[in-house]
Amino acid sequence: KALAVAGVQGLTPYTPGKPEDEVKRELGLEKIFKLASNENPLGPSPRAVQAIKDALPSISRYPDGSGYQLKQALSKFYGIDEKQITLGNGSNDVLELIVRAYAGPGDEVVFSQYAFAVYPLAAKAAGAVGVAVPAEGWGHDLNGIAAALTEKTKLVFLANPNNPTGTWFSESQLRAFLTKVPEDIVVVLDEAYCEYISEPDYPDGVALLQSHPNLIVTRTFSKAWGLAALRIGYAVSGSDIADILNRVRQPFNVDTLAQVAALASLADVDYLKQSIENNRAGMQQVTNRLQSLGVAYIDSVGNFVCIEVGDDAADIYQRLLLEGVIVRPVANYGMPRHLRVSIGLPEENEAFLNALETILFPNS
Ligand code: PMP
Repeated sequence: KALAVAGVQGLTPYTPGKPEDEVKRELGLEKIFKLASNENPLGPSPRAVQAIKDALPSISRYPDGSGYQLKQALSKFYGIDEKQITLGNGSNDVLELIVRAYAGPGDEVVFSQYAFAVYPLAAKAAGAVGVAVPAEGWGHDLNGIAAALTEKTKLVFLANPNNPTGTWFSESQLRAFLTKVPEDIVVVLDEAYCEYISEPDYPDGVALLQSHPNLIVTRTFSKAWGLAALRIGYAVSGSDIADILNRVRQPFNVDTLAQVAALASLADVDYLKQSIENNRAGMQQVTNRLQSLGVAYIDSVGNFVCIEVGDDAADIYQRLLLEGVIVRPVANYGMPRHLRVSIGLPEENEAFLNALETILFPNS
């Protein structure tokens, strides 16, 4: 019998949520409120939809494997060289490329407790050893992470903000951390949700690249840019790291429709503003009501929030589902008392809050 390599044998497959239509059919519900995957509730930019329509006749051709136009646009957007960009099939793809390029069997890959689940998975798949550093509160303990680096450490993953906790660290904290990291360790700064953040001391990873050649910043079109289904994300780094990542990348890892949609979206600044504003108002709507209900939550700067519902979180998740509200259990992150809910449209948030109130306080 053929055996998969050790790292792969130890993997637990990702369990995706059931398709919405299937949930609707099973539960006999007319409407479903899907607040489970930190997506953009506004739908995509109309410009992206138009660009896709325009590109449809060309799908018999292979995509542009170099992503020429999109890289040009991104390089203008950030004021960087195209050679610093690596495109990926979602930023997940980029995270995996990074592990494949920089960590192998026996190497250590360091991240925080409660950090995004792909880091330990990608490390394990590569046969590397994932090292989870205890969190500080619910957030990254950057001093603890620096102290956990060893001769074997090849990679560090930092999520700013982190999913699922929504916690973040400041520019001065990040700078202090980076000074402690030896140059031969690659630091990945995952900024999947950066567009939502308005805190003045939130660091712009791309601006730190010049002074930190071992840094890689990853970003995505899945969240604030509303293109989750198209699977497109990217890394920005020094050009030597990008050269390495582009060597391990599949030549056509980003399809034509994703490329044209991302390009059109980047030009739609109003759409981005609306997405951010919807999220700001929705976060306030959700947290105000949680406060008035006396339900604890972890302060979040992302487009989601982790709510502490108690020991019966799994049951509450099921009961929300029966009401047509899909949220995300986070027990797999070692957070069995929490549920993560994404910020939706005002009426979606309202539906979630009403369902939660009915479940938690049936007699009021
Ligand atoms: N990083 C973080 C922190 C995330 O939460 C996600 C999406 N859940 C990703 C990366 C990957 O997103 P995508 O592959 O859609 O770009």
